[in-house]
Amino acid sequence: MSLESTRPDGYTVSTHLVHGPGQSVKWDFTHHVVPPLSSSTTYRLDSVARGAKGFQDFGGLVTDEGEQPVYIYDRLDEPTRSILEGQLAQLEGGEACVTFASGMAAISAALGVLLRAGDEVIAHDVLYGCTHSLLTNWFPRLGLLAVRADLGQPGALARLLTPATRAVYLETPVNPTLQILDLGALRKAVDVANRGRPPEQRVRIVVDNTFATPFGQRPLSLGADIVVHSLTKNLGGFGTEVGGAVICSRDLHRDLALWRKDFGAILSAKSAWAILVYGLPTLPLRMKRLQYTAALVATYLEGHELVRAVSYPGLPSFPQQALAKQQMRDFDGDFAPGSMIAFHVDEARVDPVQFLDCIAKDSYAVTLAVSLGHTKTLIESPACMTHSSYGGGAATGRDAAIRLSIGLESPSDITRDLDRALRAVARAPVAAG
Ligand SMILES: *Cc1c(COP(=O)(O)O)cnc(C)c1O
Repeated sequence: MSLESTRPDGYTVSTHLVHGPGQSVKWDFTHHVVPPLSSSTTYRLDSVARGAKGFQDFGGLVTDEGEQPVYIYDRLDEPTRSILEGQLAQLEGGEACVTFASGMAAISAALGVLLRAGDEVIAHDVLYGCTHSLLTNWFPRLGLLAVRADLGQPGALARLLTPATRAVYLETPVNPTLQILDLGALRKAVDVANRGRPPEQRVRIVVDNTFATPFGQRPLSLGADIVVHSLTKNLGGFGTEVGGAVICSRDLHRDLALWRKDFGAILSAKSAWAILVYGLPTLPLRMKRLQYTAALVATYLEGHELVRAVSYPGLPSFPQQALAKQQMRDFDGDFAPGSMIAFHVDEARVDPVQFLDCIAKDSYAVTLAVSLGHTKTLIESPACMTHSSYGGGAATGRDAAIRLSIGLESPSDITRDLDRALRAVARAPVAAG
């Protein structure tokens, strides 16, 4: 195995995901093999002095070693959540992590602590639908300016950065198009803008790493300052928990913890426990299987006479494969193209809405549902569903891409169900000449 895959103690990342910190002062059950599921809203403080110390220490980074933290109240801090945060910070190569009730709570908190009224964020033009809605519907009311551009265009970012810019926000791969954005190039533009700025005015790059997961890409090592996640997707992995996380440098930890305390969108201890005990230990195993299947399904779709185009970073035809190969690497350094596919049916012969309705009615292995990173293969129409906040003509879904999130089923069952639905709704080919 390559050097990248091991931690300073000589164990691989995959083993760390199974065992976690091993010993932690965050919980006092030293003989549990699995961390206990803590479920206490409030904590005995023993003395006024200890209670006061707890409030004083709040917002400081809690580590697994040293003094036992003083827990006060679930919304402030809690052992299971805190252990999960330590794991996620390590996984992304960050100094700190703060979890939230959902991916959107994490995204709004990350931008919330960076921006003050009058500040600007420059964001990629295509974003997850609710992130788009946050920037277009709520930011103006808060006095925050969101400038949108295709950050894939060289030079676009450099032209848009102003003295009021505090954040650059993007996903890579982009949901749902799977466009790859060049983090190294964006970093260079931001470094130029940051020259001579005092620390509190620096522009920070925020990357939503939900699609790739830290298994497949560590944006902090590629130029990002902050990573956000929907834990609801592949990190949770089983489709049972909703959650979010922000991974960042030490200096932002306190503000994020205070934001969470006061806005209140905490990850429940029960969800944190499930992600810690089921999601993280199985992440490499699941991702490898999902990628194996995704490559087979993408190749199958690309060769299908009723499919016009397929976008999957692992396909040789993927236009940005060189950049994808540079950025999307697993813990062993292998190319990790992920578990998400976007494709267009041949609209001359297949109505995409009829196709999806046919899947919904007749398919066993493929489910018409939003979300992604699930044990089950999920299919949806971004224009009609996850990205409907964009509105406009695309909302009919008749000319839009279809998003496929690969699950743990047999690849041949997934392709059989897709093929069956395509054939069931296809019109006869128009005779040539
Ligand atoms: C699902 C998703 C989110 C939002 O996460 P929730 O947990 O649903 O709030 C944000 N970004 C991306 C890329 C997503 O897929």
